[in-house]
Amino acid sequence: MSEDVVGAVAARPTDDTATGGEKTQTETQPAQSPDTASPRSKPADLQIRLNDDPALGFCVYALRPYRRGERLFEERTALEATHDAHPEGIRNVYERYSQMGVDRRRALHGSFPHLAWANGVDAQEAAAARTLVGSLLTPTSRGLVIDNCLTAEDHMRMRPDGGVLGNAGPAAEKKESAVAAPAQRAKAAFRGLFKRSSSTTSLADLTDDEIVEKRARTETLDWFSRYAFRLKPEISFAKPGGNHQAAVYLLTDLINHRCGGFQNCRVSADVGTIAVLALRDIAAGEEVTINYSKDVKDFQCKGECCVKK
Ligand SMILES: [Zn+2]
Repeated sequence: MSEDVVGAVAARPTDDTATGGEKTQTETQPAQSPDTASPRSKPADLQIRLNDDPALGFCVYALRPYRRGERLFEERTALEATHDAHPEGIRNVYERYSQMGVDRRRALHGSFPHLAWANGVDAQEAAAARTLVGSLLTPTSRGLVIDNCLTAEDHMRMRPDGGVLGNAGPAAEKKESAVAAPAQRAKAAFRGLFKRSSSTTSLADLTDDEIVEKRARTETLDWFSRYAFRLKPEISFAKPGGNHQAAVYLLTDLINHRCGGFQNCRVSADVGTIAVLALRDIAAGEEVTINYSKDVKDFQCKGECCVKK
């Protein structure tokens, strides 16, 4: 168990409107939820925490045994968009993300430090949204109890820059620089990306706002290409004959990959939902794993199936 696993908060699924996280807005430190203190509360089924090996990032552990064939949970799609194999102009993930309601964007930030970072959301705020991880569970999974141990520090560690350019400190301390900082951070982070792009526009031609947006757009697409599951046309929301779509999921996306034969679960995606099913019996304490089956661009497996310890 990692040192970071302290002060667990049970992220209980609430309802489909993803409004279950209000109480976390004023939280500055992880605290025991009143729910976990109740003697009548159900023990958690799953735990989310940073892996003991930080290279593996966030992961999901089974806290109770599961039988082969059992469904661990089912959840609704958090965001569906065209995937990165499409040319610019057809890719719409940034538009889709930007047009979402505040609650849905917060929920996405709680699961995806990369997305929060890309869009200038600080790690403290993103981590506070961890209780929304179960907000898209379908009615059949409402009883699922998730022990979500992620902290602002975990979020910082999982940002693409490891927190170097980020804002980890308490919001109050950073207030003064908060207005100027995003553009400066974006410029610093964006320089490398800009060199790789074929654009003839130079950084100097753009306003600070344009740079911030351009970087957010580029990084949001990069995030999506790393995390999105590609959907078969028949289960996509796109019109028939439309562009190939991909989707991200608040909880399923936190499950790590193992190569063929090493994973203990599989996913079953349908229109607007995904379910995670046990491929074999799973013992309490085991990490829940799936096979990404080449969904993810430039993916390098860091699991024990490929990396010798
Ligand atoms: Zn592997």
